[in-house]
Order: sequence, then structure tokens, then C-alpha cells
Amino acid sequence: MPSPLENRPLRVAIIGAGPAGVYAADILTKAEREFEVSIDLFDQHPAPYGLIRYGVAPDHPRIKGIVKALHKVLDRGDIRFIGDVTYGRDLLLSDIRDLYDAVIFATGANDDAALNIPGEELEGSFGASDVVSWYDGHPDVPRTWPLNAKEIAVIGNGNVALDVARVLSKHADDLLVTEIPDNVYQGLKSSPVTDVHVFGRRGPAQIKFTPLELRELSHSKDVDIVLYPEDFEFDAASDEAIKSNNQVKTMVNTLTNWIVEEQDTGASRRLHLHFLQSPVEILGEDGKVVGLRMERQELQGDASVKGTGEMVDYPVQAVYRAIGYFGTEVPELGFDAKRGVIPNQGGRVLDADGAVVPGVYTTGWIKRGPVGLIGHTKGDALETIGHLLDDHASLKPATQPSEDALIQLLNERGIEFTTWEGWQALDAHERELGAAATEAGPVARERVKVVPREDMVRIALGVQAPVG
Ligand code: NAP
Repeated sequence: MPSPLENRPLRVAIIGAGPAGVYAADILTKAEREFEVSIDLFDQHPAPYGLIRYGVAPDHPRIKGIVKALHKVLDRGDIRFIGDVTYGRDLLLSDIRDLYDAVIFATGANDDAALNIPGEELEGSFGASDVVSWYDGHPDVPRTWPLNAKEIAVIGNGNVALDVARVLSKHADDLLVTEIPDNVYQGLKSSPVTDVHVFGRRGPAQIKFTPLELRELSHSKDVDIVLYPEDFEFDAASDEAIKSNNQVKTMVNTLTNWIVEEQDTGASRRLHLHFLQSPVEILGEDGKVVGLRMERQELQGDASVKGTGEMVDYPVQAVYRAIGYFGTEVPELGFDAKRGVIPNQGGRVLDADGAVVPGVYTTGWIKRGPVGLIGHTKGDALETIGHLLDDHASLKPATQPSEDALIQLLNERGIEFTTWEGWQALDAHERELGAAATEAGPVARERVKVVPREDMVRIALGVQAPVG
């Protein structure tokens, strides 16, 4: 008997409308295939773009280009965006099975990896992803952030650490050109910070920054970059990395030039870059962070480090750990708690016995872990979509494959949802806020983000604000 899939479009749900989900949808739409596809792209937020909207610093130099590219894909009209719908709460796996022939989870990695040192629980010790969510105007985090530290430590030598250090050390007025909401501007404006210390546990040739992001640091006005010559140690592996990897070479050059050029201009804020220091303990008094104890490290020849036993205490009143993100467990699917990913084989999701779960796929950070730049998720999506297409003939057909069936189900459950047209309305609204702020204020602003979820939904649904 011919499969019903031969006579109708393949119905695919993609959970997560961040770059990973959008790339998967785009690749599936454009793939060479002998059947039609019909894709619903879900997000738990009323707006699309995931980590681009809620995980990258607002002054990130590449953000606009990426948003433009994702917008172009969704604006074609062949992928249906359904926002403000949470998988595991509003829709269960059984619903997805009824409505779709296949599902791709692209839910990302939104938690912070733990440092596991004493003092991590103190007031003033934070995960980077939380403050990133705050300054990116995430609807589900508090509107205020305790910015009362004069001296701040950021642990980690990846781009997230750089983002956090840059945003927390910048003068708020210099972020006004970005889309930061007013509560974030006000919070940063009242910050008493004078010194932000970024700590890498390995050497300058082992940093995980990228060159553009590193160079960006020196563009902050009235912020001096402070480096320490004694941190500039290179072992055999470092020399090899500098020789063989252009990015490493460029960044080590940038750092060494900064030392030579003498960055002390007497600025009112300083951003210190420390290397070869590993966190041992967050020091506290009365339950609050008062310092950070670091142990000096020594390179071992193979780019690994060993503690020297020499301890240095830094007086800081806030510590942000930016040592990597960690995947969030997805309801009704297996979870590799060590790696923070959905167990999978090239994107085909596996069950607890290691067997493939038919029709269930994954892509992006929740598939391979939180490493790599946004563009790298394209490769992930290619692999996952390749497998989905290979499996086409053996997929179990949905029992309610019509596009209306989902809308009917959401309506029956009383679940409000946003659409691409709704996002366009919200997008236009944010641009209008930007235009109004430009007229009223000292700088040109392209847009200003709307934060409260209910406001986002209200604007996306075209509903007037209640008067009163
Ligand atoms: P990351 O690049 O993996 O960097 C994590 C950093 O934390 C590394 O320097 C690592 O040092 C350090 N670390 C890990 N465990 C530690 C510990 N116990 N103690 C001290 N240090 C520790 O992670 P990320 O910064 O979260 O970034 C994730 C991905 O997103 C990256 O690919 C990044 O490039 C990307 N991203 C890009 C941008 C951008 O383009 N602007 C912005 C944000 C994120 P070791 O190397 O020694 O392990």
C-alpha cells in the first residue's frame, strides 16, 4: 500500500526559532526532494531569533547582518512561524506525533555550566546567561539587575565572557545606539563599576575569543584595557598554535600590541585581562561576594595548565561565570546530563537504549553542545535534514496532517500564539519606539526592544493597550 506521505506535503515541526531552527527550516525548504514540505516553526517566545535576540550582546558587531539573513528566510512565506507556544506545556510529544510526520528539536543551550567551587551560591555570584538575558530584555527575567559592584570578575575566556565584560564596563550612554530597553539603560547608567577583571585559566594563545570580538574591546570609550606582562607565557603548543592558526596569531598580536602601546589613558573605567589564573573560591562575608581567590597556573607544553600553588585574592563584589553554556533538558526526550545534549546520532534522536526514535530529530547546540559560532549550526542542520530526507519513506504519517489542525488544537486549548505577521507588527512597533527615542534623545536609535511578554503578545496580536 502506498504511504499517505506520497500524496501530500511532509508535515514537519521545528521546535525553536533561533538560528538553528531557522537554518534547518531553510535547508529543508530548499533541499532537492521529490515531495512537498510544510513546516511549522515554533518558539516559546512571542518573537523569533532565539539567541540572536536574547543571547548576544546588543552591541555585537555582527548581529544586524545575522538578523537580516534570518528575517529574509522567514519573510519568504513558506515557513509558518508560531510564537509564544511552549513545547512540553502547550504541546506535548503526542500532539506533535498526531500533527506532524517529523519533528526537529532546535531548543539550544540556555543554562550556565557550573564552576563547582566554594562560594558559588553567594549573593553577587551569577551565571553569565542570566545577566545576558537581562541586558537583552528577555521577558522572563526580572527587570532589575543588582549592579552595585565597583569591581567585577568575569571567569572564562570565551566570547560570552567578552560580551559580559564589555557590556558591564561600557558607559550606558554608549549603548544607547543599540536596542537596549529603558530598564537596562537605567540599570547600567546607575552602575558604580570601575574595574572589570576577565580571567582565563590558560594562556593568551589558548583564548577562545574570536578576533573581531577581541578588537571590539578597545572601542569602548573611557575604558582602558589593562594587561599584565607576567601573564604572557607561551609553551610549545602555544608557539605551534600561533604558527598554524591565523586567528590565534591575530589575537596574540592584538594582545601584545596592547601591552606595547600602553593603554593607560586615565579612563574612569578599566577592563583587565588576566591569563593563567584559575578560580579556587568565591570569597564571602555576610552571604555576599567580597572577593575571588585565584590560583596561578603554569603551561605544561601541550597547552594544558597545572596549578602552581600561588594564590591571589582579588577584591570584587560580583562574580560572573562565563565558562560555557549547558543544554536545557527537553521534556519527553532523553538527556545526556554530562554533555547537556539530546542523545542523537547525526541528528537522529536516540532513546535510553540507544535506539533511534523514529521521526524525531535535533539540531544546533542541543544536538552537539554549546560550541561554535552561529554559522556553524548550518552544518548541523545540513546533516540532520539529510537524515530526515533519507528517512522519508519510513516515517510514521501524522493522523491529522492538515495545517488547520494545529490552529484548531491551540484554539481548543485556549493557547494564544503569535505569527510572522504578528512579529512584523512588533518589529515595526520597536522601530517606532526607536524613532521616538531618536527624536527625544541625543542619539539615533534604530529600535528599542519591548520586554514584558504580555506587551509583546498584545502588540503582536494587534490588541490595544488597556486604558487606565
Ligand atoms: P567557550 O567559547 O567554550 O569558552 C569558555 C571559556 O571558559 C574557555 O575560556 C574555558 O577555558 C573557560 N572555562 C571552562 N571551564 C572553566 C573553569 N572550570 N574554570 C575557568 N575557566 C573555565 O564558551 P562561551 O564563551 O560560552 O561561548 C560559547 C560559544 O558561543 C562559542 O563558540 C562562542 O564563540 C559563541 N559566542 C559567540 C559570540 C560572538 O560571536 N560574539 C558571542 C557569544 C557566544 P578552557 O579553554 O581552558 O577550557
